[in-house]
Amino acid sequence: MWQSQPVTDALVFIFGLMFGSFLNVCIRRLPQHESIVTPGSHCPRCQTPIRARDNIPVVSYLLLRGRCRACGERISPEYPLVELLTGMLALGCYWQFGITISGVKWTLFSAMMLVLVFTDFHDRLLPNRVNYFGLAAGLALSPFTPAVDGFARWLLHGWFALGAPEWTVRLADSALGAIVAGGMLWLFAEGYFRLRGREGMGLGDVKMMAMAGAFLGVRQAILMMLLGSILGSVVGAIAVWGFGKGRDYELPFGSFLGIAALFMIFAGGPLLHWYVTTTGLGR
Ligand SMILES: [Zn+2]
Repeated sequence: MWQSQPVTDALVFIFGLMFGSFLNVCIRRLPQHESIVTPGSHCPRCQTPIRARDNIPVVSYLLLRGRCRACGERISPEYPLVELLTGMLALGCYWQFGITISGVKWTLFSAMMLVLVFTDFHDRLLPNRVNYFGLAAGLALSPFTPAVDGFARWLLHGWFALGAPEWTVRLADSALGAIVAGGMLWLFAEGYFRLRGREGMGLGDVKMMAMAGAFLGVRQAILMMLLGSILGSVVGAIAVWGFGKGRDYELPFGSFLGIAALFMIFAGGPLLHWYVTTTGLGR
């Protein structure tokens, strides 16, 4: 065989780095409602277009020592960081799911979550274009990948006993995930607003959760919300008590949800199993 594991690994990683370059464009431009296609990359200070040889992921940043070739403006280390993270996530998805539709689905999901982690952190924004595209992609890919949850099969066992095709169960799993996860977060947001008289979460978080539910299914999406909330509470407490941020400091809740989602991709199955067996919630 001409194929060898290290070569395939390297190709997937390089693909991830290049995909990460595109995600950087999404992170900078989507919150400003700018096109992600035109114009090409340019220095934010001197507007000089970035030449192809200065636009190689990570490598160019190192060769240019993190500065624009034309004006010497410092380039944020976040650019190579996002590229490296995308490369690692693509490799992780490849190792876990192979070059399959599942592999494509989870690579796409991790990329969108990475974009949302950074846009929420910088701009407290979770762009609709990511959320709506993600919701559509999650639903559209679900019939072609294994059922994410099994909740639909349990709920629709009568329907399934009639000999309904497997893809309808998979699609129902995905749709239920979107509806339940989005609905739950909407109820939390509404409840918080009624109790505290101010907004704790925006509609963007609700849409993000619906999108994630379409990929993860009901139970893993609920675990993701739980994990994201714990992470947000810990970091929030550190921000208020440790760094003297005011109590009205607005946490990037979407960033924590996104980190929790990335965790669920690789550890969601075992975590759910552990949760179900320790709480006795087994089916
Ligand atoms: Zn410049």
